[in-house]
Amino acid sequence: MSLQMSAVDLTYPDGDDRRVQALAEVSLTVAPGEVIALTGPSGCGKSSALAVAGTLIRPDSGTVAIDGTEVGGLSEQDRARIRREQIGFVFQRDNLLPDLTALEQLLLTAHLRGERPARHRGEALDLLADVGLAGHHDKLPRQLSGGMRQRVNIARALMGPRRVLLIDEPTSALDHARGTAIVELICQLARERGLAALLVTHDLATLEGNADGLLHMLDGRLTDVAVAV
Ligand code: ADP
Ligand code: MG
Repeated sequence: MSLQMSAVDLTYPDGDDRRVQALAEVSLTVAPGEVIALTGPSGCGKSSALAVAGTLIRPDSGTVAIDGTEVGGLSEQDRARIRREQIGFVFQRDNLLPDLTALEQLLLTAHLRGERPARHRGEALDLLADVGLAGHHDKLPRQLSGGMRQRVNIARALMGPRRVLLIDEPTSALDHARGTAIVELICQLARERGLAALLVTHDLATLEGNADGLLHMLDGRLTDVAVAV
């Protein structure tokens, strides 16, 4: 359940015949049960790195392997299946639907896949309990605090047989105490479930004693090797 990126280059179109280099020679490894944090100034390529790791974007060159399977050679259909089944995404905004309860947010993916949501109800309730929301499953987003909504978002990302967790600035809408609690929770869940987690954050104070390593990015390049935090 590891994530490995090797020598990944990515450019985006930028006007006539020009390209902007978003990632250059990015190589990193996240082992099962490990949380590696990725930080750097706005625009340096952090979200692009997550998009490539999550098979949302194909890099110009370089490889991405999930559990040792190189995903670059797979069809779009197979990449979509891996994304759906093995990769959990948590973004800055919680992207919860306003009219669904916490439990329904977790069951929505199964519903969209044409499965019977009832089959996944037990797993969803267990996950909500794991993120500290036991008893809140019938609440709508507006009845939950910002921190609780982000917990629903995390629980939703963990539905199914996940191997990789990709998290983009999950604490930017939260105060320090709530942000630290969210990062602690992500690290605990990744460890317990043997997930490889790559966590983009500006909020280095929340990482202390939690993350297994910290990578710095500047202008699309990793500037030094992982250091303990
Ligand atoms: P970060 O998450 O660190 O803020 P991004 O990965 O979002 O950085 O962006 C890296 C660079 O790529 C920036 O220069 C940004 O403007 C550019 N970029 C990101 N997404 C696109 C896109 N879809 N099209 C063109 N340029 C993009
Ligand atoms: Mg970003």
